[in-house]
Amino acid sequence: MRDCIFCKIIDKQIPAETLFEDDHVIAVLDINPINYGHTLIIPKVHCRDFLALPEESYGSVLHAAKIIANALVIHYKLEGYNLFSNNGSIAGQSVFHFHLHVTPRYRDDNIRFVLNLKHYGDGEVKVFGDAIRKTIQSSLISYKEI
Ligand code: 5GP
Ligand code: ZN
Repeated sequence: MRDCIFCKIIDKQIPAETLFEDDHVIAVLDINPINYGHTLIIPKVHCRDFLALPEESYGSVLHAAKIIANALVIHYKLEGYNLFSNNGSIAGQSVFHFHLHVTPRYRDDNIRFVLNLKHYGDGEVKVFGDAIRKTIQSSLISYKEI
């Protein structure tokens, strides 16, 4: 896709430090890492976000994520790492071509997700569960029709 920075990386129009590549996915070092070794797992098909990712790409994306996470754990002797994806600008997405982040974590790296945890009142969790299950049922019907 024109004007997509990740499509340009995939097409080798702009350089990137590639760690792994196959027919379906490319894994490159993030240019502004949270910690050194922070890697982006990018499907080669252009898709805006997770919901647009074709099902046939799921396996390749997770396969590459596992190869990279395993290598980072060995290479940096990691005790932990994060695997995450931002979807939508309000969720922090800045490049609108789906990708997974794999990032090394360290005990004292001072990286925090600032959380404002909510609490379910008495019986409330079931109300949320019932409502979402209902939507799953109706959305699965339209999902199968796509
Ligand atoms: P998002 O904010 O969409 O979850 O993640 C986009 C990521 O892409 C950011 O972490 C950013 O540092 C990285 N990024 C943006 N432009 C480039 C680039 O040209 N090359 C590489 N390797 N990473 C990039
Ligand atoms: Zn793209």
